[in-house]
Amino acid sequence: MQYLICTTCGVQMDENMTWDDVCPICTDERQYVNPNGQSWTTLSDMISSGTYQTTMTEEQAGLQSLVTTPKFGIGQTAYLVTGTKRILWDCVTYLDQTVIDAVGQLDAMALSHPHYYATQVEWAETFGIPLYIHEADQEWVTRPSKQIVFWSGNQLALSEDVILHRIGGHFDGATVLEWTTGNDGRGILLTGDIVRVVADRAWVSFMYSYPNLIPLPATTVAEMASALKDVRFNQIYDAFHKIVVTDANAAVARSASRYIEALNGYVKPRERR
Ligand SMILES: [Zn+2]
Ligand SMILES: [Zn+2]
Repeated sequence: MQYLICTTCGVQMDENMTWDDVCPICTDERQYVNPNGQSWTTLSDMISSGTYQTTMTEEQAGLQSLVTTPKFGIGQTAYLVTGTKRILWDCVTYLDQTVIDAVGQLDAMALSHPHYYATQVEWAETFGIPLYIHEADQEWVTRPSKQIVFWSGNQLALSEDVILHRIGGHFDGATVLEWTTGNDGRGILLTGDIVRVVADRAWVSFMYSYPNLIPLPATTVAEMASALKDVRFNQIYDAFHKIVVTDANAAVARSASRYIEALNGYVKPRERR
C-alpha cells in the first residue's frame, strides 16, 4: 500500500491518492500549491534517501520538542508532554526507527488542526495510541484510521493535567493544549499556529491563513480570547518554536484587543521602548 505525502504541507494521504492528484490541504485558500507544481513523496522514499532526521530536544522539565531537519513541508514543531501521561501534541512527517526508539512509549496524541496532520496515522498506529481530532475538522482527515477519535464540544481532558480546548479561528476545529502542571505548575499552553507568537514575544497573533496573510474577523478573535480568558497558563509554545516565556495569558488578552482595534481602524500610537 502506498500513501503519498505532499511535499508542500507534509500531510500523508490515503491509498486512493495518485501521483497526478493535487493535495486537498494545499488547494484550500489557507495553504498554497507549490508554484513549481504539486509534488509527492512517500515515507519509505524519505527514509531510504537518508536525508532527514527528526530530533527531540528537552525544552524544560516534562516538555520536549520534535523537529525534522532539513525542513520538510511546513516545518512545524511537535511537542511531547510528559505529565501524568505521555502525550504527543501535533505531528511531524518524518518517522523512522530512530525516532520511534527516542520517543519510546506514548499514551495519546492530539492535533491542533489539519496543517500538522503530517503522518499522524503512521504515528498513532506505530505507537498503538488514540489520535484526538476535533470533529469539526473531520472533512480534512486525508487518511482515515481506527486510531482517530473525533471529539466534540469545546473541552476534553486527556489526562489529569492535559486539557484540549477547541477555540476555532484558523480552522473550525482549531484546538490548543493546556498542560496545567507545566512550567512548575504555572501552566503551559501549546498552540500550534492557532495562536502564533510574533516577533515581539510579549505578543501573539491570530490568522485565518498565515502563508496568504488572511486575517480573522474581529468577532472570531474576540471569541478565541474569551475561550482562553479563564485558562491558567504562564507560557505559550507555538508550532514554530516561538515562546511567550511569562504572563502569556495576559499576552493573549492584550494581543486580541490590539488586533480587534486594528480591524476596527484604530492603531494606537505606542510608546517607544
Ligand atoms: Zn499539501
Ligand atoms: Zn495552519
